[in-house]
Amino acid sequence: MPYTTYHASCHCGDVRFEADVDLSAGTTKCNCTYCFKNRYWSLSVFPDRFREIASPNVAKSGSLTPGRCARCGVLTFARVTATDWNPVDHVAISVAAFDDIDPTDLASAPVTHCDGLHDNWWAAPAEVRHL
Ligand SMILES: [Zn+2]
Ligand SMILES: [Zn+2]
Repeated sequence: MPYTTYHASCHCGDVRFEADVDLSAGTTKCNCTYCFKNRYWSLSVFPDRFREIASPNVAKSGSLTPGRCARCGVLTFARVTATDWNPVDHVAISVAAFDDIDPTDLASAPVTHCDGLHDNWWAAPAEVRHL
C-alpha cells in the first residue's frame, strides 16, 4: 500500500503533526451529533505512522473525542486506545487538518459511513450525502 506523508495543523498553528497515510485504506464519516455538528471526516493511522510536532493544548490520550486546539477550537487528532470493540490503538485524524493533501486525492478516497446517530456504528445510514 502506498503511504504518503502529509503535514497537518489546526487553524491557528498551535497544533502541528505529520502522518504517513494510505488514502486507499479509506476514511470515515458518521452521522452522530458529535461528528455531524463538527463536520468530522476522519481517517485512522497506527501510532507509529503519526508524529506530533507541536500540540500543547490538545487531548492526547484515553479519549474517543477528537483533540481540539485550546486556542482556535479546530479538531485535529486524538489518540484512541484499544477497547473491547476497538481492537487496536490508533490515531484518529480529521482530514481537514491536512495542509498538503491533494483535494482530488482526498475526494477519491473511499468513505465508510457510520450510523452513529442510531448507535448502529457498523452500518451506513440511509442518507449520507449531507455528511
Ligand atoms: Zn489552533
Ligand atoms: Zn460520530
